[in-house]
Amino acid sequence: MIESRRVPAFQELLETWDGETAVIHRDRESGAWVFVCLHSTHLGPAGGGTRMKVYGTPAEALEDAMRLSAAMTRKLAIAGLPFGGGKAVIAVPEIPSGEQRRALFLRYADLVASLGGTFRTSSDMNTGEADMDVIGERTEYVFGRSVQAGGSGSPAPPTAVGVYFGIRASLSHAFGSDDLEGRIVVVQGAGGVGSPLAGHLADAGASVLVADIDPGRAHAVADRVGGAAVPVDQLFETDCDVYAPCAVGGILTLETVPRLRCGIVAGSANNQLAEPEAADLLRARGILYAPDYVINAGGAIAIVGLEQLRWSTSELDTALAQIGETLRQIYERAEGRGISTAAAADALAEERLNAR
Ligand code: NAD
Repeated sequence: MIESRRVPAFQELLETWDGETAVIHRDRESGAWVFVCLHSTHLGPAGGGTRMKVYGTPAEALEDAMRLSAAMTRKLAIAGLPFGGGKAVIAVPEIPSGEQRRALFLRYADLVASLGGTFRTSSDMNTGEADMDVIGERTEYVFGRSVQAGGSGSPAPPTAVGVYFGIRASLSHAFGSDDLEGRIVVVQGAGGVGSPLAGHLADAGASVLVADIDPGRAHAVADRVGGAAVPVDQLFETDCDVYAPCAVGGILTLETVPRLRCGIVAGSANNQLAEPEAADLLRARGILYAPDYVINAGGAIAIVGLEQLRWSTSELDTALAQIGETLRQIYERAEGRGISTAAAADALAEERLNAR
Protein backbone atom coordinates (compact mmCIF):
# COMPACT_ATOMS: atom_id res chain seq x y z
CA MET A 1 0.00 0.00 0.00
CA ILE A 2 1.32 3.44 -0.85
CA GLU A 3 0.98 5.79 2.10
CA SER A 4 0.26 9.42 1.36
CA ARG A 5 2.86 11.74 2.86
CA ARG A 6 2.19 15.16 4.32
CA VAL A 7 4.00 17.85 2.36
CA PRO A 8 5.09 20.67 4.68
CA ALA A 9 3.77 24.16 3.91
CA PHE A 10 6.02 26.85 2.37
CA GLN A 11 6.84 28.43 5.72
CA GLU A 12 7.87 25.15 7.33
CA LEU A 13 9.96 24.21 4.28
CA LEU A 14 11.78 27.55 4.34
CA GLU A 15 12.36 27.40 8.09
CA THR A 16 13.73 23.87 8.17
CA TRP A 17 15.83 23.83 4.97
CA ASP A 18 19.58 24.10 5.56
CA GLY A 19 20.33 25.83 2.25
CA GLU A 20 21.30 29.45 1.55
CA THR A 21 18.70 31.00 -0.73
CA ALA A 22 15.38 29.96 -2.23
CA VAL A 23 14.05 32.12 -5.04
CA ILE A 24 10.30 31.85 -5.58
CA HIS A 25 8.88 33.19 -8.81
CA ARG A 26 5.37 33.02 -10.20
CA ASP A 27 5.28 33.03 -13.99
CA ARG A 28 1.86 34.61 -14.49
CA GLU A 29 1.77 34.13 -18.28
CA SER A 30 1.92 30.33 -18.02
CA GLY A 31 0.65 29.75 -14.49
CA ALA A 32 3.95 28.05 -13.62
CA TRP A 33 5.78 28.38 -10.32
CA VAL A 34 9.56 28.60 -10.54
CA PHE A 35 11.76 27.67 -7.59
CA VAL A 36 15.51 28.21 -7.75
CA CYS A 37 17.28 26.80 -4.70
CA LEU A 38 20.89 27.73 -3.99
CA HIS A 39 21.78 25.19 -1.36
CA SER A 40 25.46 26.12 -1.08
CA THR A 41 27.83 28.53 -2.77
CA HIS A 42 30.70 27.61 -0.45
CA LEU A 43 32.83 25.88 -3.11
CA GLY A 44 31.67 28.11 -5.98
CA PRO A 45 28.49 29.16 -7.80
CA ALA A 46 25.52 26.87 -7.20
CA GLY A 47 25.22 24.45 -10.11
CA GLY A 48 22.25 22.26 -10.89
CA GLY A 49 19.72 21.25 -13.50
CA THR A 50 16.36 22.76 -14.30
CA ARG A 51 13.56 20.24 -13.85
CA MET A 52 10.14 20.79 -15.39
CA LYS A 53 7.28 18.81 -13.95
CA VAL A 54 3.60 18.86 -13.06
CA TYR A 55 3.30 18.72 -9.26
CA GLY A 56 0.27 18.31 -7.03
CA THR A 57 1.02 21.57 -5.18
CA PRO A 58 3.66 24.33 -5.40
CA ALA A 59 4.96 23.25 -1.96
CA GLU A 60 5.76 19.79 -3.36
CA ALA A 61 7.79 21.45 -6.10
CA LEU A 62 9.67 23.65 -3.65
CA GLU A 63 10.41 20.63 -1.46
CA ASP A 64 11.76 18.77 -4.51
CA ALA A 65 13.99 21.69 -5.49
CA MET A 66 15.35 21.97 -1.95
CA ARG A 67 16.10 18.26 -1.64
CA LEU A 68 17.65 18.05 -5.10
CA SER A 69 19.81 21.14 -4.52
CA ALA A 70 21.24 19.63 -1.32
CA ALA A 71 22.09 16.48 -3.27
CA MET A 72 23.90 18.66 -5.84
CA THR A 73 26.06 20.19 -3.10
CA ARG A 74 27.23 16.71 -2.09
CA LYS A 75 27.59 15.53 -5.68
CA LEU A 76 29.73 18.45 -6.86
CA ALA A 77 31.83 18.48 -3.67
CA ILE A 78 32.58 14.75 -4.04
CA ALA A 79 33.34 15.20 -7.74
CA GLY A 80 35.94 17.83 -6.79
CA LEU A 81 34.42 20.55 -8.99
CA PRO A 82 34.60 24.25 -8.08
CA PHE A 83 30.84 24.48 -7.67
CA GLY A 84 28.24 24.55 -4.95
CA GLY A 85 24.85 22.90 -5.23
CA GLY A 86 21.62 24.28 -6.65
CA LYS A 87 18.52 23.16 -8.47
CA ALA A 88 15.62 24.80 -10.26
CA VAL A 89 12.14 23.42 -10.63
CA ILE A 90 9.59 24.82 -13.04
CA ALA A 91 6.25 23.55 -11.78
CA VAL A 92 3.94 23.77 -14.78
CA PRO A 93 0.18 23.13 -15.07
CA GLU A 94 1.07 20.99 -18.09
CA ILE A 95 4.30 20.38 -20.02
CA PRO A 96 4.38 23.12 -22.68
CA SER A 97 5.56 22.82 -26.27
CA GLY A 98 6.23 25.05 -29.27
CA GLU A 99 6.17 28.83 -28.88
CA GLN A 100 4.74 28.71 -25.35
CA ARG A 101 7.64 26.57 -24.22
CA ARG A 102 10.18 28.85 -25.85
CA ALA A 103 8.61 31.94 -24.28
CA LEU A 104 8.59 30.28 -20.84
CA PHE A 105 12.28 29.39 -21.12
CA LEU A 106 13.17 32.94 -22.23
CA ARG A 107 11.41 34.37 -19.17
CA TYR A 108 13.09 31.73 -17.00
CA ALA A 109 16.45 32.68 -18.55
CA ASP A 110 15.90 36.29 -17.44
CA LEU A 111 15.37 35.01 -13.90
CA VAL A 112 18.61 32.99 -14.06
CA ALA A 113 20.43 36.04 -15.47
CA SER A 114 19.12 38.19 -12.61
CA LEU A 115 20.95 35.93 -10.14
CA GLY A 116 24.21 37.23 -11.60
CA GLY A 117 25.99 33.89 -11.96
CA THR A 118 25.38 32.66 -8.41
CA PHE A 119 23.24 29.93 -10.03
CA ARG A 120 24.26 28.06 -13.21
CA THR A 121 21.97 25.56 -14.75
CA SER A 122 21.73 22.64 -17.18
CA SER A 123 19.06 20.17 -18.26
CA ASP A 124 17.17 17.74 -16.04
CA MET A 125 13.86 15.88 -16.14
CA ASN A 126 11.69 17.11 -19.06
CA THR A 127 14.25 19.69 -20.19
CA GLY A 128 16.98 19.23 -22.76
CA GLU A 129 19.62 20.68 -25.05
CA ALA A 130 17.10 22.71 -27.09
CA ASP A 131 15.79 24.40 -23.92
CA MET A 132 19.35 25.15 -22.78
CA ASP A 133 19.98 26.76 -26.18
CA VAL A 134 16.97 29.03 -25.58
CA ILE A 135 18.24 29.95 -22.10
CA GLY A 136 21.63 30.65 -23.69
CA GLU A 137 20.03 33.37 -25.84
CA ARG A 138 19.58 35.46 -22.67
CA THR A 139 22.29 34.40 -20.25
CA GLU A 140 25.75 32.87 -20.22
CA TYR A 141 25.00 30.95 -17.01
CA VAL A 142 23.87 27.79 -18.73
CA PHE A 143 25.56 24.46 -19.42
CA GLY A 144 24.57 21.58 -21.67
CA ARG A 145 23.68 23.54 -24.78
CA SER A 146 23.85 21.78 -28.13
CA VAL A 147 27.23 21.47 -29.82
CA GLN A 148 26.00 23.86 -32.57
CA ALA A 149 25.21 26.48 -29.91
CA GLY A 150 28.62 26.10 -28.27
CA GLY A 151 27.79 23.50 -25.63
CA SER A 152 29.15 20.02 -25.04
CA GLY A 153 25.98 18.13 -25.95
CA SER A 154 24.21 15.41 -24.01
CA PRO A 155 25.64 14.50 -20.59
CA ALA A 156 24.21 10.96 -20.84
CA PRO A 157 27.18 9.28 -22.62
CA PRO A 158 29.80 10.55 -20.08
CA THR A 159 27.41 9.61 -17.27
CA ALA A 160 27.42 6.06 -18.68
CA VAL A 161 31.24 6.04 -18.79
CA GLY A 162 31.36 7.15 -15.14
CA VAL A 163 28.91 4.41 -14.14
CA TYR A 164 31.03 1.90 -16.06
CA PHE A 165 34.14 2.88 -14.06
CA GLY A 166 32.03 2.79 -10.89
CA ILE A 167 30.85 -0.75 -11.61
CA ARG A 168 34.41 -1.90 -12.16
CA ALA A 169 35.55 -0.39 -8.86
CA SER A 170 32.56 -2.00 -7.13
CA LEU A 171 33.40 -5.41 -8.61
CA SER A 172 36.96 -5.02 -7.46
CA HIS A 173 35.84 -4.26 -3.90
CA ALA A 174 33.14 -6.93 -3.70
CA PHE A 175 34.83 -9.76 -5.58
CA GLY A 176 38.54 -8.90 -5.60
CA SER A 177 38.70 -8.33 -9.37
CA ASP A 178 37.25 -5.67 -11.67
CA ASP A 179 37.10 -8.09 -14.59
CA LEU A 180 33.67 -8.00 -16.23
CA GLU A 181 34.23 -11.18 -18.22
CA GLY A 182 31.40 -13.57 -17.38
CA ARG A 183 29.73 -11.18 -14.91
CA ILE A 184 25.98 -10.76 -15.20
CA VAL A 185 24.72 -7.18 -15.10
CA VAL A 186 21.04 -6.19 -15.14
CA VAL A 187 20.58 -2.71 -16.59
CA GLN A 188 17.23 -1.14 -15.66
CA GLY A 189 16.33 1.52 -18.22
CA ALA A 190 17.43 1.38 -21.84
CA GLY A 191 17.59 5.15 -22.22
CA GLY A 192 20.24 7.83 -22.64
CA VAL A 193 22.50 6.34 -19.95
CA GLY A 194 21.42 2.68 -19.86
CA SER A 195 21.89 2.12 -23.57
CA PRO A 196 25.56 3.20 -23.86
CA LEU A 197 26.30 1.61 -20.47
CA ALA A 198 25.00 -1.74 -21.75
CA GLY A 199 27.39 -1.38 -24.68
CA HIS A 200 30.46 -0.65 -22.52
CA LEU A 201 29.66 -3.59 -20.24
CA ALA A 202 29.13 -6.01 -23.12
CA ASP A 203 32.35 -4.83 -24.81
CA ALA A 204 34.20 -5.71 -21.59
CA GLY A 205 32.76 -9.25 -21.60
CA ALA A 206 29.74 -8.97 -19.31
CA SER A 207 26.44 -10.74 -19.96
CA VAL A 208 23.96 -7.89 -20.08
CA LEU A 209 20.27 -8.21 -19.22
CA VAL A 210 18.07 -5.20 -20.00
CA ALA A 211 14.74 -4.23 -18.43
CA ASP A 212 12.60 -1.29 -19.56
CA ILE A 213 8.93 -0.42 -19.15
CA ASP A 214 9.06 -0.08 -22.93
CA PRO A 215 9.82 -3.71 -23.90
CA GLY A 216 10.70 -2.62 -27.45
CA ARG A 217 13.56 -0.49 -26.11
CA ALA A 218 14.79 -3.29 -23.85
CA HIS A 219 14.85 -5.73 -26.76
CA ALA A 220 16.53 -3.25 -29.12
CA VAL A 221 19.39 -2.56 -26.69
CA ALA A 222 19.70 -6.22 -25.65
CA ASP A 223 19.90 -7.29 -29.30
CA ARG A 224 22.50 -4.61 -30.06
CA VAL A 225 24.83 -5.73 -27.27
CA GLY A 226 24.23 -9.49 -27.57
CA GLY A 227 22.31 -9.63 -24.29
CA ALA A 228 18.74 -10.49 -23.35
CA ALA A 229 15.68 -8.57 -22.21
CA VAL A 230 14.13 -9.15 -18.75
CA PRO A 231 10.53 -8.25 -17.88
CA VAL A 232 10.42 -5.34 -15.43
CA ASP A 233 8.33 -7.30 -12.94
CA GLN A 234 11.15 -9.86 -12.61
CA LEU A 235 13.89 -7.28 -12.23
CA PHE A 236 14.51 -7.55 -8.50
CA GLU A 237 14.38 -11.35 -8.40
CA THR A 238 16.83 -11.86 -11.28
CA ASP A 239 20.11 -13.51 -10.25
CA CYS A 240 23.01 -11.26 -11.22
CA ASP A 241 26.32 -9.84 -10.02
CA VAL A 242 25.35 -6.20 -10.58
CA TYR A 243 21.98 -4.48 -10.66
CA ALA A 244 22.40 -1.14 -12.46
CA PRO A 245 19.34 1.09 -11.93
CA CYS A 246 19.34 3.60 -14.79
CA ALA A 247 15.68 4.55 -14.97
CA VAL A 248 13.84 6.00 -11.98
CA GLY A 249 14.61 6.84 -8.37
CA GLY A 250 13.07 5.41 -5.21
CA ILE A 251 13.68 1.80 -6.21
CA LEU A 252 15.57 0.79 -3.06
CA THR A 253 13.01 0.35 -0.29
CA LEU A 254 12.64 -1.87 2.75
CA GLU A 255 10.36 -3.98 0.58
CA THR A 256 12.52 -4.27 -2.57
CA VAL A 257 15.97 -4.70 -0.98
CA PRO A 258 15.12 -8.13 0.53
CA ARG A 259 14.10 -9.29 -2.96
CA LEU A 260 17.40 -8.39 -4.64
CA ARG A 261 19.54 -11.30 -5.91
CA CYS A 262 22.67 -9.31 -6.72
CA GLY A 263 26.03 -8.60 -5.10
CA ILE A 264 26.20 -4.95 -6.12
CA VAL A 265 23.78 -2.08 -6.83
CA ALA A 266 25.50 0.46 -9.06
CA GLY A 267 23.64 2.61 -11.57
CA SER A 268 22.90 6.16 -12.68
CA ALA A 269 19.38 6.74 -11.35
CA ASN A 270 19.06 9.71 -8.99
CA ASN A 271 17.69 9.27 -5.46
CA GLN A 272 17.77 5.48 -5.50
CA LEU A 273 17.21 5.14 -1.75
CA ALA A 274 13.51 5.69 -1.07
CA GLU A 275 14.31 5.69 2.65
CA PRO A 276 17.72 6.07 4.33
CA GLU A 277 17.25 2.75 6.19
CA ALA A 278 17.40 0.92 2.85
CA ALA A 279 21.16 1.66 2.82
CA ASP A 280 21.59 -0.15 6.15
CA LEU A 281 19.53 -3.06 4.91
CA LEU A 282 21.72 -3.35 1.81
CA ARG A 283 24.75 -3.43 4.06
CA ALA A 284 23.17 -6.03 6.37
CA ARG A 285 22.43 -8.19 3.33
CA GLY A 286 26.04 -7.88 2.14
CA ILE A 287 25.05 -6.01 -1.03
CA LEU A 288 27.53 -3.31 -2.01
CA TYR A 289 25.74 -0.06 -2.87
CA ALA A 290 27.45 2.59 -5.01
CA PRO A 291 25.98 5.89 -3.72
CA ASP A 292 24.00 7.34 -6.62
CA TYR A 293 25.34 10.88 -6.54
CA VAL A 294 28.92 9.62 -6.63
CA ILE A 295 28.58 7.10 -9.46
CA ASN A 296 26.30 9.26 -11.65
CA ALA A 297 28.40 12.44 -11.60
CA GLY A 298 29.96 11.82 -15.04
CA GLY A 299 27.54 14.11 -16.88
CA ALA A 300 28.09 17.00 -14.48
CA ILE A 301 31.85 16.44 -14.60
CA ALA A 302 31.77 16.50 -18.40
CA ILE A 303 29.73 19.65 -18.86
CA VAL A 304 31.68 21.62 -16.28
CA GLY A 305 35.01 20.17 -17.41
CA LEU A 306 34.49 20.76 -21.12
CA GLU A 307 32.48 23.99 -21.04
CA GLN A 308 33.93 25.88 -18.10
CA LEU A 309 37.32 24.37 -17.28
CA ARG A 310 38.13 23.83 -20.99
CA TRP A 311 39.43 20.30 -20.47
CA SER A 312 40.71 18.14 -23.31
CA THR A 313 38.97 14.79 -23.84
CA SER A 314 41.86 12.99 -22.18
CA GLU A 315 41.51 15.20 -19.09
CA LEU A 316 37.82 14.32 -19.08
CA ASP A 317 38.59 10.59 -19.35
CA THR A 318 40.90 10.85 -16.33
CA ALA A 319 38.20 12.65 -14.32
CA LEU A 320 35.58 10.05 -15.23
CA ALA A 321 37.90 7.20 -14.20
CA GLN A 322 38.39 9.05 -10.90
CA ILE A 323 34.76 8.18 -10.04
CA GLY A 324 35.99 4.60 -9.54
CA GLU A 325 38.78 5.79 -7.22
CA THR A 326 36.37 7.87 -5.17
CA LEU A 327 34.07 4.88 -4.76
CA ARG A 328 36.99 2.71 -3.63
CA GLN A 329 37.76 5.31 -0.97
CA ILE A 330 34.11 5.37 0.16
CA TYR A 331 33.91 1.57 0.33
CA GLU A 332 37.05 1.36 2.46
CA ARG A 333 35.75 4.01 4.85
CA ALA A 334 32.37 2.32 5.14
CA GLU A 335 34.03 -0.97 5.96
CA GLY A 336 36.52 0.57 8.38
CA ARG A 337 33.85 2.50 10.27
CA GLY A 338 31.12 -0.14 10.09
CA ILE A 339 28.67 2.21 8.36
CA SER A 340 26.69 2.09 5.11
CA THR A 341 28.34 3.28 1.92
CA ALA A 342 25.67 6.01 1.71
CA ALA A 343 26.70 7.32 5.13
CA ALA A 344 30.38 7.11 4.16
CA ALA A 345 29.73 9.13 0.99
CA ASP A 346 27.82 11.81 2.92
CA ALA A 347 30.71 12.03 5.42
CA LEU A 348 33.28 12.42 2.62
CA ALA A 349 31.17 15.13 0.97
CA GLU A 350 30.87 16.96 4.29
CA GLU A 351 34.64 16.76 4.80
CA ARG A 352 35.34 18.19 1.34
CA LEU A 353 32.91 21.02 1.99
CA ASN A 354 34.47 21.84 5.34
CA ALA A 355 38.03 21.60 4.03
CA ARG A 356 37.59 24.92 2.22
P1 NAD B 1 16.02 8.39 -20.17
O1 NAD B 1 14.72 9.06 -20.01
O2 NAD B 1 16.82 8.62 -21.41
O3 NAD B 1 15.84 6.80 -20.03
C1 NAD B 1 15.13 6.22 -19.00
C2 NAD B 1 14.63 4.85 -19.51
O4 NAD B 1 14.04 4.17 -18.39
C3 NAD B 1 13.55 4.95 -20.58
O5 NAD B 1 13.87 4.04 -21.63
C4 NAD B 1 12.26 4.53 -19.84
O6 NAD B 1 11.35 3.84 -20.70
C5 NAD B 1 12.81 3.60 -18.80
N1 NAD B 1 12.00 3.46 -17.59
C6 NAD B 1 11.26 4.40 -16.95
N2 NAD B 1 10.72 3.88 -15.83
C7 NAD B 1 11.16 2.61 -15.74
C8 NAD B 1 10.98 1.57 -14.81
N3 NAD B 1 10.23 1.75 -13.71
N4 NAD B 1 11.59 0.38 -15.03
C9 NAD B 1 12.34 0.18 -16.13
N5 NAD B 1 12.56 1.14 -17.06
C10 NAD B 1 11.96 2.33 -16.87
O7 NAD B 1 16.86 8.80 -18.87
P2 NAD B 1 18.46 8.80 -18.71
O8 NAD B 1 19.00 10.11 -19.15
O9 NAD B 1 19.02 7.55 -19.28
O10 NAD B 1 18.59 8.80 -17.12
C11 NAD B 1 18.34 7.62 -16.38
C12 NAD B 1 18.46 7.90 -14.89
O11 NAD B 1 19.78 8.39 -14.60
C13 NAD B 1 17.50 8.97 -14.35
O12 NAD B 1 17.17 8.64 -13.01
C14 NAD B 1 18.33 10.22 -14.36
O13 NAD B 1 17.88 11.16 -13.39
C15 NAD B 1 19.68 9.67 -13.96
N6 NAD B 1 20.80 10.51 -14.40
C16 NAD B 1 20.95 10.80 -15.70
C17 NAD B 1 22.00 11.59 -16.10
C18 NAD B 1 22.20 11.94 -17.54
O14 NAD B 1 23.26 12.52 -17.85
N7 NAD B 1 21.29 11.63 -18.44
C19 NAD B 1 22.95 12.04 -15.16
C20 NAD B 1 22.79 11.69 -13.81
C21 NAD B 1 21.70 10.92 -13.45
